[in-house]
Amino acid sequence: MSKDIDLSELPKGKKVIRCIICPTGCEITVENTSDELKITGYTCRKGEEYAREEFIAPKRIITATMRVEDGFLPIIPVRTDKPVPKELIFELIKELSCVTVKAPIKAEDVLIENIRNLGANVIASRDMPVKA
Ligand code: SF4
Repeated sequence: MSKDIDLSELPKGKKVIRCIICPTGCEITVENTSDELKITGYTCRKGEEYAREEFIAPKRIITATMRVEDGFLPIIPVRTDKPVPKELIFELIKELSCVTVKAPIKAEDVLIENIRNLGANVIASRDMPVKA
């Protein structure tokens, strides 16, 4: 994978990353030597991939709220079902806060499919019944 990327466009030097894939929490070091991405300290392949991605293009699950029409409450907590680029977090939270969805909603319902073609859906984090 590191052969496909231009290392000169990535930060130089070392970055220490705590792997959050499992509770072991390995401390992984990624170093951009300009010739290669040197990754050390991982215990398994998943950790190596996590650290590589975190160094190249960090991603996060977004949690936000959306407005609800006819809902028991006026807003509903939502999240993406897959991580999206970290630099879009604040933009997407703002965008989602302006969108209105209609009750009733069930937890895990897809409220926005494939947001901005990022490969992630926005899903409801809880049920939202219709107001009585
Ligand atoms: S590197 Fe592997 S063992 Fe270590 S925290 Fe990550 S997933 Fe767990």
